[in-house]
Amino acid sequence: MQRDWFRAQARGYESTVAAALDANAVPVDVYKTLVETVREGTAPLRRYIQARQRMLGLDSYHLYDGSLPLVEDDRTYPYDEVKDTVWESVAPLGEDYQQKMAKLLNDRWLDVYENDGQRSGAYSMGVYGVGPYMLMNYNDTLDAVFTFAHELGHSMHTVLSHETQPFATASYTIFVAEVASTTNERLLLELLLSRTDDPKERFLLLQKAIDNIQGTFFAQVMFADYELQAHERVEAGQPTTPDSLSAIYTGLIDG
Ligand SMILES: [Zn+2]
Repeated sequence: MQRDWFRAQARGYESTVAAALDANAVPVDVYKTLVETVREGTAPLRRYIQARQRMLGLDSYHLYDGSLPLVEDDRTYPYDEVKDTVWESVAPLGEDYQQKMAKLLNDRWLDVYENDGQRSGAYSMGVYGVGPYMLMNYNDTLDAVFTFAHELGHSMHTVLSHETQPFATASYTIFVAEVASTTNERLLLELLLSRTDDPKERFLLLQKAIDNIQGTFFAQVMFADYELQAHERVEAGQPTTPDSLSAIYTGLIDG
């Protein structure tokens, strides 16, 4: 953080956040408004956590209790069935989009299942002129289904960007990178909800959607808030210690 502050000052920026946002041409006010809006808008998240605590029958609720399932479920989602569903879910984006996605799905760009020595997680990697390549560790769970839709969103974003932009401007900024992926997750949710009357499955789907909002929106903005507050301390000449950083983080979790 001291390095960030030194570099920001050496290049004539007013703050570390201004220096960090400049390359993407994002005004500091956009960042601060986002952080402030989320600070003031946590009421629905609190209600969800209270509901979870009640359903789980816990006397006190900790961050790690967020990983406990509310409903046990052993249904599986085999890749071969899900592939068509995910493809159908993007119909609102048009035929051209679907055709391009079909090519991605059927042209050997995807590494679907786990394998010896394969890294964990999932990602989409764009390389200008070929691909994009996608890696997954698909394991038939509902989580894996949404990860699949998410990474495909990234891949399609890359396809369209590479198709319409020259090499120099084809890679997209981090500020828009998750728009395509989370939009496709949402389209999949809509389709899956429209296809089931089973209360348990609907519950699981809606819970998945809420967890996504928590993980993608609230948690990420909380990290942004944390970084902002920690850097502001350094800019004000205050010392950085484990206690001062923990105090910021605890304040955010409790707030
Ligand atoms: Zn993503």
